[in-house]
Amino acid sequence: MDVNWDLIVAGGGPAGCALAAKVASTGARVLLLEKEDEPGRGLSWIVDVESTAFEAAGVPFPGDDACRPEPERAVLVSPVSGREVDLIPSPTTPIRNDIYVRQLARWARDSGAEIRTGRGVRGPLLEGDVVAGVNFTDADGTNRNVSAPIVADCTGLVGAVRHGTPSAWGLNMDVDFFDIVVARRDVRRLDVEAAARAVQEGLIENRVQVQGVSVHGGYSVEIYYMDLDQGYIDILIGAKPGPGIPTPDASFEKIFKRFPFIGEKIFGDGGAIPIRRTWDSLVGDGFLVVGDSACQVIPMHGSGTASALIAADLASKTISRALAEKRYDRAALWDYCYSFQSGRGALLAYYYALRLHADDMTSEDIDRMIRRGVLAAEDVHSGLVPEPFDPGPGILVKKFLKGILVLPLLFGFAKAGLRAEKLMKHYQRYPARYSPEELRSWVSRLPV
Ligand SMILES: Cc1cc2nc3c(=O)[nH]c(=O)nc-3n(C[C@H](O)[C@H](O)[C@H](O)COP(=O)(O)OP(=O)(O)OC[C@H]3O[C@@H](n4cnc5c(N)ncnc54)[C@H](O)[C@@H]3O)c2cc1C
Repeated sequence: MDVNWDLIVAGGGPAGCALAAKVASTGARVLLLEKEDEPGRGLSWIVDVESTAFEAAGVPFPGDDACRPEPERAVLVSPVSGREVDLIPSPTTPIRNDIYVRQLARWARDSGAEIRTGRGVRGPLLEGDVVAGVNFTDADGTNRNVSAPIVADCTGLVGAVRHGTPSAWGLNMDVDFFDIVVARRDVRRLDVEAAARAVQEGLIENRVQVQGVSVHGGYSVEIYYMDLDQGYIDILIGAKPGPGIPTPDASFEKIFKRFPFIGEKIFGDGGAIPIRRTWDSLVGDGFLVVGDSACQVIPMHGSGTASALIAADLASKTISRALAEKRYDRAALWDYCYSFQSGRGALLAYYYALRLHADDMTSEDIDRMIRRGVLAAEDVHSGLVPEPFDPGPGILVKKFLKGILVLPLLFGFAKAGLRAEKLMKHYQRYPARYSPEELRSWVSRLPV
């Protein structure tokens, strides 16, 4: 049994690799266990990441091999009438997730972390109610234990470690079915001649990113971008599972029928993303959750990479301090929890409240909101920055006048905005020190 590690990181996605690199660079002994044979395997989709996130999180910028071309133009398409709205250039950078994850894994290794692949973590090693390591399946199939005073669960939605933690921490639950979106993003080859004919016939546009919302009902997106010169099409489908809602795979089949010039996959993958607010607390004794495992995702559109990197940065600072002070309990790790929840977590909570409202809207409602200009390019842009909608009095009046014919929808949206503000403010007042009573009181006063 290994006993010399300071930190065990379970899961080598963006959160785990960034965390391992940062903590190892301080001289700590860090072991990262990844279930796949190499980091990034199974994660080969394009992610659009807030362009400011790399610097904010203090992580390397994606190398040239990870960067993807930015669309020259993007339009939002309403689901029923097909009305197009020109979008403001996106504040995000498209990158190939798997290549960037491998870059982060190299950074972690170069910083001194040990990465062992082909190791599936099964759960925490508990000493009483303290996480003291993990149990994992080794490359030869045997079950092993490995100890460390601090364990970080970065295994994404599966939460392989957190599920086995004491229930009093509130981290052992499944994410509700209701709070999950399933997505798939493929880049595929084209039959270029046939695709060019389709462009001439007006069936599809070249070098225009088409962002369809609520196309497959409720919370769903269908986004594609075709580049004839480069000979590829990039397609993203995301949908919250529900009655009558096709899976992304089924929606892909429909797109292949609609656009028969789409050929074989160059790269791409799919998976499930949690779209709820973060857990009430992100730490336990000897334990932290980071990234999708902590539900650190913008619930309105399922983007989690920037939050995972920012959380890894905050967690690394807390872990380094805890290791220096040799204190690993919940109170010692609280600073990470407080700084995330009261900052970025508050913004995610804001978008969670808006998402709950969007869940209740039909495709027809969304269509009317777009057609009337109540849901406009600036709203999409705010969500990607991300920042709370703050349109200012001029735009508010304009929206009100435009929205007069869809007044109930407008009021519903305004009410959801107020609820979102309330939840965001509640997160901003997250307890700064660990106290079970203060945490309980904070949870009991959650407005949503
Ligand atoms: C199709 C799709 C498109 C997306 N598009 C965007 C986007 O445009 N922008 C954006 O910001 N986000 C996007 N996301 C979400 C984003 O990919 C995630 O939020 C982000 O990857 C979370 O990082 P993570 O490190 O927390 O978890 P993950 O990326 O899920 O990494 C978890 C890692 O843990 C490993 N693991 C799992 N179980 C175990 C175990 N038991 N033992 C050991 N290792 C384990 C996995 O193999 C994986 O390497 C998208 C997701 C999908 C599915």
